[in-house]
Amino acid sequence: MSDILTKAMTKDGFFKIAAAVTTDTVNAAHTYHQTMPVASAALGRLLTAGLLMADNLKEKDASLTLQMRGDGPLGTLVIVADSQGGVKGYVANPAADLPLKENGKLDVGGGIGRGTLGVIRDLKLKEPYIGQVPIQTGEIGDDLAYYFMQSEQIPSVVALGVLVDRDYTIKSAGGLLIQVMPGCDEKSLSMLENSIQGMMSVTEMLNHGMNAKDMIEYAMLGFDVEFLEDIEIGYRCNCSRDRMERAIVSLGKQEIQDMIAEQGDAEIVCQFCNQAYRFTGEELSMLVEKATRK
Ligand SMILES: [Zn+2]
Repeated sequence: MSDILTKAMTKDGFFKIAAAVTTDTVNAAHTYHQTMPVASAALGRLLTAGLLMADNLKEKDASLTLQMRGDGPLGTLVIVADSQGGVKGYVANPAADLPLKENGKLDVGGGIGRGTLGVIRDLKLKEPYIGQVPIQTGEIGDDLAYYFMQSEQIPSVVALGVLVDRDYTIKSAGGLLIQVMPGCDEKSLSMLENSIQGMMSVTEMLNHGMNAKDMIEYAMLGFDVEFLEDIEIGYRCNCSRDRMERAIVSLGKQEIQDMIAEQGDAEIVCQFCNQAYRFTGEELSMLVEKATRK
């Protein structure tokens, strides 16, 4: 069983919708990073958002990066989504723990704190597109809706949910993104607003056993919706020895020589999937040459 993302559009072209169940994806992140509940919820929401937002990456190596740089105990969160339905991410302090909020919910906003949200769309065409806004609440869904409005002028509903089980595994996770397209009329817009106001949260929808398609049908009740495609999504890391070599070369000659002098050899661990790559002193010396030739 794998996670599924479903894309849809209303037939009048006024709303673009994406929904996803990401339980397995977020569970993989929890296993890789041994996240405590607040970190699971924060990273899970951001991973889900990345998958929902990555739908316009057409080129093969295109990617979408979301960075939350807040001053809360979780530290920085980074996720990278690719054009094939894969996503990976990390949180600086996966063990950070905070008391529950008064309403019994995980305090994601408190965990993230205040700072900046960065969005980088690298479409592999020219320069990557970089947008940045101040973090509003740290609850992630609100922050991304604010980003869409400020940076892309697209009114959006961003609903994200992660439910952590008693044993800290992920019971359910998912999200819903509704975007208002240019030309949308007032009547349709107020119809959507009414629908959203009485809507269950994403975690409640998942608790009711809804899949991505159900979530879209539920949120867009009364609209004429056309389903476009289902995509298999998941936690995928595309690191390789080759990529790590390039990362070392990019450090520059001096840095690599210092590494050889201090440690002799080096072990580099992928921050997304914990895969370790070992380089002997001899291999590092060859990389010094590559860095020199650059
Ligand atoms: Zn990796």
